[in-house]
Amino acid sequence: MVRMTVLASGSKGNSTIVSSATTRILVDAGLSCRELMKRMRAAGEQPETLDAILITHEHQDHVQGMAVTARKLGIPVYLTEPTHRAWVRWMTPQKRITYAEWLAQRQSTGHRAPGSEEKQGAGSREQGAEDGVRRSALGVQECDLASVRCSADVGAEPDPEEKAAAEEAIAEAEKEPQKDPAALPAVEYFRAGSGFRIGDIAITPFTIPHDAADPVGFVFEADGVRIAIATDLGYMPSNVSVQLRVCDVLMLESNHDVDMLRDGPYPWSVKQRVMSRVGHLSNDAAAEFLARGYDGGAAYVVLAHLSENNNLPELARISAERALRDRMSLLANHLLLAEQDRPLEAIVL
Ligand SMILES: [Zn+2]
Ligand SMILES: [Zn+2]
Repeated sequence: MVRMTVLASGSKGNSTIVSSATTRILVDAGLSCRELMKRMRAAGEQPETLDAILITHEHQDHVQGMAVTARKLGIPVYLTEPTHRAWVRWMTPQKRITYAEWLAQRQSTGHRAPGSEEKQGAGSREQGAEDGVRRSALGVQECDLASVRCSADVGAEPDPEEKAAAEEAIAEAEKEPQKDPAALPAVEYFRAGSGFRIGDIAITPFTIPHDAADPVGFVFEADGVRIAIATDLGYMPSNVSVQLRVCDVLMLESNHDVDMLRDGPYPWSVKQRVMSRVGHLSNDAAAEFLARGYDGGAAYVVLAHLSENNNLPELARISAERALRDRMSLLANHLLLAEQDRPLEAIVL
């Protein structure tokens, strides 16, 4: 029996469990450890039985609970070497500040309300790294240009899950102040294009176009069942579309409605980034793939990483349904929408 449980999906946190009869993998840990545990239990999964954490890329909404969860459960983290380096760099604080100072700093400099771009400074990642980046006591990266966040759901207030993850790590650091915040129980490197195994699950990582150090998607295979996860990609290149063939479950990004994004409140630099070739897949781009690039074989198509500010579940659903309706062979397909605030019921194959 192979199972996939989406615990959370969206720009505030991403996490999914893929499991076989004997192996359980947490794919991304983008919620606080406490929230991850809570959602696992609510979804009928036991956190203590996880074998590994597997990471797609270093953006906060994919890693903010990673270190605390890995340390708590004593399990290895699998990522690429460039992703690990990028994460370690960000986790190394320039100076220690209190949590209250961190919040104050965010509000005064790091996170501006939508529409305040004129005060925000320049628009390149390089300049963001020079000017816009602030680090918390834990090295949690802050960037007003959102180059460290995924879909740049920019807001004036810190996201509650981000706050919870930071508080957890601060509490841990207070207990053991000597401990390196970037310490992990074990790190295993993989490379895009080179398959590997965790227990009885075979994993093929593939490169995706996204503005992170070395972002990947995954195909999982166990007991003859194939599950593909492809979120956080600016467009659908042929190397990715090839990987998404002959899958039983396809989890695909449907991030934004292009008109909502264009007319929405984001600074232009952020809009450009989301729409770029290394940003996120729009509803239209996902539908285009479902209509033309996809082989129609998946029993479940899960639309994922929907933007809270620039999308509506109904819009994502309608465009995917329209794309799939033209495919006569797809009548047996289930179309699901992954949610930010609650786990989806487990998909069992
Ligand atoms: Zn991302
Ligand atoms: Zn993301």
